[in-house]
Amino acid sequence: MIIVMKPNASEDAIKHVVTEVEAKGLKTHLSEGEEVTIIGVVGDKSKLDTTAIEAAPAVEKIVPITESYKLSNRKFHPQPTSFKVKDTVIGPDTMTIMAGPCAVESEEQLMCIAQAVKKAGATILRGGAYKPRTSPYSFQGLEEEGLRYMKTASEETGLATICEVTSAHAVESAVKYVNMLQVGARNMQNFELLKEVGKTGLPVLLKRGLAATIDEWLNAAEYIISSGNPNVALCERGIRTFETATRNTLDLSAVCVLKEKSHLPVIVDPSHATGVRSFVEPLAKAGIACGADGLMIEVHNDPAHALSDGPQSLNFEQFDSVMDNIRPYISLAGRK
Ligand code: PEP
Ligand code: MN
Repeated sequence: MIIVMKPNASEDAIKHVVTEVEAKGLKTHLSEGEEVTIIGVVGDKSKLDTTAIEAAPAVEKIVPITESYKLSNRKFHPQPTSFKVKDTVIGPDTMTIMAGPCAVESEEQLMCIAQAVKKAGATILRGGAYKPRTSPYSFQGLEEEGLRYMKTASEETGLATICEVTSAHAVESAVKYVNMLQVGARNMQNFELLKEVGKTGLPVLLKRGLAATIDEWLNAAEYIISSGNPNVALCERGIRTFETATRNTLDLSAVCVLKEKSHLPVIVDPSHATGVRSFVEPLAKAGIACGADGLMIEVHNDPAHALSDGPQSLNFEQFDSVMDNIRPYISLAGRK
């Protein structure tokens, strides 16, 4: 439930309500707006005397939250969330571009891609060091060596970095080298992994599961936030449907639904959503129009010889052109 305080309720009055609630063993989360403060309450509400709380002079009303996810719920936290990844902000005023190879393949490969995506305007370098491949015989990633190259690329270019983690062991390594962790589609409901990334305090990009509903996705985000980490962004990367013309089906309506139901930033990944490089630009534009806070795009120096996801990867020239062509859409959306 949330406790909505009256406009301009005093700090003392807010503190008093918080103390009352916490004394009963429940947790509170404060959301301070310009005029109104909202106190989110999580825990066993049967212990609370809600009538007495609602009768307090500085309390406007109590609103129950019926959805099973609370901390990721917009009712709980009406302002959109924003957070920093190194020097980049992900939030309502910006369009954050994350770009880079599907997999880190070598130091030289990563460095030349990092320089190219930075020049084109990306601020976060993506690169997989632990690759969750469908076949066990496909390239599985350079693991810690790949993470080291991510760190070097960040030091050389100033870009922030994001890397997927697939196990608790990978989390332990990744926190030493990168600025943001990615939980991939295949691990969206790996609840032990979600708790591990929640404990790190590093910003997390939570990709949508291949066949996950929005409700399941927000509950997965809830695992991370309730483990102590509020800096979560959601990534729509396409879902499984009957359609085979594209690798997945980009669910753009999910962006609109998430904006209504949650305060968490939303990133659109047109590369994994379609698996086809020529569809990246139109769907990037559509994602911006639907209210996305950022894009994740795969870029490779030599897509034809990429060790993974070559067909959806853009070469440098194509990425430059996509960046130039989406710029007017970013300004139209009122973002930087
Ligand atoms: C990736 O980002 O390279 C990746 C494997 O994405 P997804 O989990 O969305 O398939
Ligand atoms: Mn990929």
